Amino acid sequence: MIVERLWPDSRLRNYHYLVVCEETGDALAIDPLDADLMLRSARARGWNITQILNTHHHLDHTAGNGAVKAATGASILAHAGAAATIGGVDRGLAQGDVIRVGRTIELECLDTPGHTMSHVCLFAHAEQPALFSGDTLFNAGAGNCHQGGDPEVLYETFSEKLARLPDSTRVYAGHEYLLNNLGFTLDREPLNQVASQLRAALAGRAATDMPVTTLAEEKQFNTFFRLQNPAIIAGLRARFPDLPETPTPREVFVKLRALRNQW
Ligand SMILES: [Zn+2]
Ligand SMILES: [Zn+2]
Repeated sequence: MIVERLWPDSRLRNYHYLVVCEETGDALAIDPLDADLMLRSARARGWNITQILNTHHHLDHTAGNGAVKAATGASILAHAGAAATIGGVDRGLAQGDVIRVGRTIELECLDTPGHTMSHVCLFAHAEQPALFSGDTLFNAGAGNCHQGGDPEVLYETFSEKLARLPDSTRVYAGHEYLLNNLGFTLDREPLNQVASQLRAALAGRAATDMPVTTLAEEKQFNTFFRLQNPAIIAGLRARFPDLPETPTPREVFVKLRALRNQW
């Protein structure tokens, strides 16, 4: 499986991806925004875009659908619940569906509501597993919930779906927010060595050169996976007096998401 991460240099710092079968050159285009960039990249490598996948309906993940489809005839796949909003969807997806790309790639569809209520992530069962996480899980962060989402539901997705994936899973997110998110982590946990060392190492680095993190790493520096951490809880209780002394992970997650909105 080849994963090509493309950087359209958009205001919202989107990433999009080509997932390519090495045997056939068939490619899945994930979240096309800059259609020209996707088409040029595929053409230059001799790849053939046969399918388009939108993780959710937001325009910065779908705007390139029409032009990519017109140029390639690719079919469009999206969450069944987002299909009508997106328009032109050929295949509506649900939890457990399998997307095949070429002869060698099988991607499992995870129903991952929270950022929007109809959002899919794709999980690649491979030697090094991969997760295409859209706006659900960012490197060192979590998607916001103020455009049709719900933080309680996003918590369920994190705890029931994402946290259970293998630690070696590489996280291919829909936006480049890593450095900024590490700032949020260090604001919660000033003594988090892994976060401070990574932030120092990445300072000034271009978005095109940012690392792809693993879930094992996320559990070390992504606040939204560290819901039992005493420093995080103490800091939240200082800001949210209604948070109990021994809060549930769900309560911590929801307060963190609220705090991140103003941070
Ligand atoms: Zn979004
Ligand atoms: Zn987005």
